[in-house]
Amino acid sequence: MEKRVYTFGEGKAEGSQSMKNLLGGKGAGLAEMTNLGLPVPPGFTITTEVCTHYYKNGKGYPSGLEAEVSQAMRRVEQIVGCKFGDHDNPLLVSVRSGARASMPGMMDTILNLGLNDDTVQGLIRRTKDARFAYDAYRRFIQMYSDVVLEVSPHHFEALLDQARRKSGVKNDYELKAEDLKNLVSDFKQVVSEETGSPFPMDPNAQLWGAIGAVFGSWMSARAISYRRINKLPEDWGTAVTVQAMVFGNMGMDCATGVAFTRDPSSGEKRFFGEFLPNAQGEDVVAGIRTPNPINKDSSNHDDLPTMEKLFPKVYGELTHLYQMLEKHYRDMQDIEFTVQKEKLYLLQTRNGKRTASAAVRIAVDMVKEKLITEEEAVLRVTPAQIEQLLHPRLDPRVPKKVIAKGLPASPGAASGEVVFSSEDAESAAKLGTNVLLVRHETSPEDISGMDAAKGILTALGGMTSHAAVVARGMGKPCVAGCSAINIDYKKQQFSVEGTVVKKGDVVTIDGASGEVILGHVPTINSQVDQYFTQFMKWVDARRTMGVWANAETPNDAKVARQFGAEGIGLCRTEHMFFEENRILAVREMIVADTKAQREAALSKIYPMQKDDFVAIFREMKGLPVTIRLLDPPLHEFLPHTEGEIETLAGLLNKSADMLSAKIRSLRELNPMLGHRGCRLGVSFPEIYQMQTRAIMEAACELILSEDYHIEPEIMVPFIATIEEFHLLKQDIKIVCEEILAKHKIKVPYKIGTMIEIPRAALVADQIAAEAEFFSFGTNDLTQMTLGLSRDDAGMFLPRYVEKGIYRQDPFAVLDQEGVGQLIRIACEKGRKTHPKLKIGICGEHGGDTTTIEFCHRLGFNYVSCSPFRVPVARLAAAQATLKK
Ligand code: PEP
Ligand code: MG
Repeated sequence: MEKRVYTFGEGKAEGSQSMKNLLGGKGAGLAEMTNLGLPVPPGFTITTEVCTHYYKNGKGYPSGLEAEVSQAMRRVEQIVGCKFGDHDNPLLVSVRSGARASMPGMMDTILNLGLNDDTVQGLIRRTKDARFAYDAYRRFIQMYSDVVLEVSPHHFEALLDQARRKSGVKNDYELKAEDLKNLVSDFKQVVSEETGSPFPMDPNAQLWGAIGAVFGSWMSARAISYRRINKLPEDWGTAVTVQAMVFGNMGMDCATGVAFTRDPSSGEKRFFGEFLPNAQGEDVVAGIRTPNPINKDSSNHDDLPTMEKLFPKVYGELTHLYQMLEKHYRDMQDIEFTVQKEKLYLLQTRNGKRTASAAVRIAVDMVKEKLITEEEAVLRVTPAQIEQLLHPRLDPRVPKKVIAKGLPASPGAASGEVVFSSEDAESAAKLGTNVLLVRHETSPEDISGMDAAKGILTALGGMTSHAAVVARGMGKPCVAGCSAINIDYKKQQFSVEGTVVKKGDVVTIDGASGEVILGHVPTINSQVDQYFTQFMKWVDARRTMGVWANAETPNDAKVARQFGAEGIGLCRTEHMFFEENRILAVREMIVADTKAQREAALSKIYPMQKDDFVAIFREMKGLPVTIRLLDPPLHEFLPHTEGEIETLAGLLNKSADMLSAKIRSLRELNPMLGHRGCRLGVSFPEIYQMQTRAIMEAACELILSEDYHIEPEIMVPFIATIEEFHLLKQDIKIVCEEILAKHKIKVPYKIGTMIEIPRAALVADQIAAEAEFFSFGTNDLTQMTLGLSRDDAGMFLPRYVEKGIYRQDPFAVLDQEGVGQLIRIACEKGRKTHPKLKIGICGEHGGDTTTIEFCHRLGFNYVSCSPFRVPVARLAAAQATLKK
């Protein structure tokens, strides 16, 4: 007969850690700990296969299961020396669910099962503690009625409240034995009324009721939707673990606590933990009493005695066990223990949660201790932890009043006085005031205001909106698409559910969580230390894919290099057009009516553009720099206010009316699908010619005067057809060769394209025959493949994610199923006609972990992301190599 129940206890378990699929995470863990000889209360686990059988057979159990369970229970009774249902010496058990991975929505725990009117007397006789026994009994009825009998918990809460008031106490633990005894009887009364039958007194019926409830919870609505969203299969099933109870609340020789084998906040190698004498697990969690430190190392309160002092023998044992556990699991452990009458029990051990800096330090220390390999260390720290390490974050000890939540668009946290315009941000910053810039959305004109602000909050826009992209580039916190806030520019205030925040009021944003908080919340900086440096060395040694940065100023480039970027994957030249002393010339170029006028304007922009490139090339010292030719629709640069129009009209010697008409004629209904990208290059070849000349002259200048090695990569945006690329490439090449011939030098330059229009991906074989590199612009590619405006979708996209229609924001995490398919096709087709084609990504997804793994699988040469995400991307790329 197939085995369905696996016992553990007294140093022997039938299962082990490797049997997670059959025993669930919890069952497998308890078996492993038992086999290690750890003092684990005995018990047994009913396999996940029984759950599968249960659903396949109209909620029926396989024959013989009952006998197996009884037999396993007898074994537990033998070990503990009590009997399940015995009225003198009753065995009490806990019943828990356990899937392969811990899964919210599943039934949690029923404690103290086996109590009834008869056995509670036995418990009193054995423990000589009526208060304890009745408290255990009422907790059992509460939990069991809730999860098995589906009686709403508010009935019990109301009765508890009544009892507290009647006795004039504030806390449950102040209730006397007599009060609790009365509560038990009232609770039972409620169950009779609500269910029409009395509370089950037969321990066996209780046990099978609980087992059925665990299996039933596998198909609860919450569990089903959790599985759907996380794509977990239905046929995994859950296991049920039944385990003998131990009590830490039977007197002053009892205790319960939690310990970490290393300091979870600093990572320092020291045993660390807290405990409560005479208490149960939930008391520690509920925080009703201040726990004692287990040893001097853990001590914050000099007045509370340590476990080392109160329970020296048990502490010694615990010390021995933690060392053994860490060796066995080869990771920092979080241990739950209970002391019952001076005897130590371990209830759980798992890899402990830790801060980002602790994660790095522990990984590095463990390599030095020869506990793990360098590869394992690289896999031990998550990219999210590296991200956390590099940005200031809110001090978790300080309470905060969250008033709204938007998209976590750029990590880090900042506080400041609210301002509603870039001008105000700049002037306040000049006076040394910290400000947060709050806008419906930002536009390229806001760059200097964003630069002056400590953080940016927008009501509209998504993860690739202007605010998000620019803030990430600047390494500033940004919460975008926070639709709950209503901004009134006129009144210079915003309101959110009744709270009004006026200009000058202080607000804090957390760009990692999307939270908007009223008032100032202090932040903490995690520093880059020797552990981080060592760790990143191991990371880079494992990585095969390059990590480049999106950068458009010399300062960005410098930061990028400091973070370890090996090139620039995207230099958006339009950002250089917005500077105050240039915008006029740019506007002049746009409203030009003739080629001659346009060229005159371009010749004013040219020297500034060339100087930009010189500065960036110098900063990148020989590394590849990909410069993208002008991309956005021209009208984005045009003046908006009457004053601005008049200034320009005056300069051009035109009437304001004529100029306004010209501006109107440039407007488009769908600018993002309009006259932008390479289409501008087709309409006005002189623009791209000027930019190309600036790039090549800058390169020649540095090579000739400073002997630099420079690899410019000229990138054409928004290509849809080979004809477009062919035409523009010819033009660009002519300019390049002309300049090189003039200076009589060779520069290894490349001309390539962005792949950001679905058609380009589909005809990639044609394009690759002429292009020297591809860089996937996944922002536009996502926008066009999903038919989803990257600037407006923030209004409803969160709902799509909430409902599980999209698992994640497709502008933050690449939609591998859809957009990814186009990328795959483009890579395959491109490499068919151009086997050595250099392939990269420069959309915002280039800094996202799962996207990086995807790019690695497709054999990308590099990913490019904002400078501050470079270390994150380095780690993700290394992990992708190791996982492959
Ligand atoms: C893209 O579309 O992914 C891209 C990098 O270009 P931009 O965001 O400037 O449109
Ligand atoms: Mg684009």
